[in-house]
Amino acid sequence: MDQLWAPWRVQYIDSKKSEGCILCDKPKEDKDVANYILYRGTFNFIIMNAYPYNPGHLMVAPRRHVPTPEDLKAEELHEHAELVARCVQVLRETFGSAGFNTGMNIGRVAGAGIDGHIHSHIVPRWVGDTNFMPAIGYTRVISQALEDTYSRLKGKF
Ligand SMILES: [Zn+2]
Repeated sequence: MDQLWAPWRVQYIDSKKSEGCILCDKPKEDKDVANYILYRGTFNFIIMNAYPYNPGHLMVAPRRHVPTPEDLKAEELHEHAELVARCVQVLRETFGSAGFNTGMNIGRVAGAGIDGHIHSHIVPRWVGDTNFMPAIGYTRVISQALEDTYSRLKGKF
């Protein structure tokens, strides 16, 4: 696959990583808008990636802190897969995404940024997106885009 150019991710790569687990901590806080939490299921939740590879980059994570999918119970896995499918549907309907990359990075050697807490990425793709992304590679633009994306997706799950 072509390399997506996402220069605003430098802020994430350079940032001091907190000791805790953001996928455990953010759902415990009562500020879903600020934390970009879009939906809370019974066993999983949907959160926007604050350092997206593409606009609309979502993550589905279980509520329990587990490092690998075989630690999840059947009902947790079932809902996890349903929410990934729901993300694809909502992103296609809302933004007209032409394709998607979805999947899990399991373990730090596989590229997991939050390697103790399994999560699925849903990255929407558009024709030509490897070309136009550098033009909007400014943090301020991205943070406005995050808020706009959140308000357009909230309530659709
Ligand atoms: Zn966790």
